[in-house]
Amino acid sequence: MGGIRLKPMSQPMRTKWKFFLTSLIALGALFIPSLPTFAETASPSPSPTPSASQVVSPSPSPSASPTPSPTASAPPVINPAPAFDINKASSQAVVVNKIRPLKPITYKPRDLVYYNGVALARVTSDSLVKLAFGMKKAGAGTLRLNSGYRAYSTQSFIYKDRVARLGLKAGEALAARPGYSEHQTGLAADVSAVGQGCVIQVCFGSTKAGKWIAANAWQYGFIVRYPNGKTPITGYQYEPWHLRFVGIEIATDMRAKKISVLETYWGLPAAPTYLY
Ligand SMILES: [Zn+2]
Repeated sequence: MGGIRLKPMSQPMRTKWKFFLTSLIALGALFIPSLPTFAETASPSPSPTPSASQVVSPSPSPSASPTPSPTASAPPVINPAPAFDINKASSQAVVVNKIRPLKPITYKPRDLVYYNGVALARVTSDSLVKLAFGMKKAGAGTLRLNSGYRAYSTQSFIYKDRVARLGLKAGEALAARPGYSEHQTGLAADVSAVGQGCVIQVCFGSTKAGKWIAANAWQYGFIVRYPNGKTPITGYQYEPWHLRFVGIEIATDMRAKKISVLETYWGLPAAPTYLY
């Protein structure tokens, strides 16, 4: 069926159905501006925050430790966890930056879910719904999704337009090259909060929602991908609105280790600029 489906995790069926139903209600309300009070209408089960079973211990499998070759550190594994493959475009652990283009460069996620024209990978949308519930419950505001998956062709159009109008340097500061954008993975979401302003602006980090997200996104498997002061490593200015889904296990481990950027976490080189 075409509705929201849970990612294949080990939750009891009862919880699955409960989440399935609340997700359906939440998604409808979440991304439709005309239903700002979704939290009230959709909270027959006021437990959208991660349950104990969803929050993993701060030290997960050895393969999640920050080594240059994350899949090589573990003892012989017949079927390496795809979640921790940082090279595969379809992996939720994939690292994309200015020196690590997607492979294949025209990659498109298979399981896109659309909301009012904005798409996310299913695993991202499932988790973003939970985050939105948590944010609402905490009184930090109503989440709004501004941008998600961007196709290679879309990014190509944006990139060429910016570079044509502004020149190579200024254009590239605004738009990633096609194949180099995290948005192409379906794992990135640009968010804001209804009525709090600072939409896709640095000041979002100072809003109630922005502060709550910075402090709590990890519980839902998200990181603020381009933190303040890390531009020399990430290659991007501070973007408090740009969330990247990496999964609860990695997000929790990064927090425990006080590491804010993926490049450092995985022992990868800094990616301040493109190589050519
Ligand atoms: Zn973004």
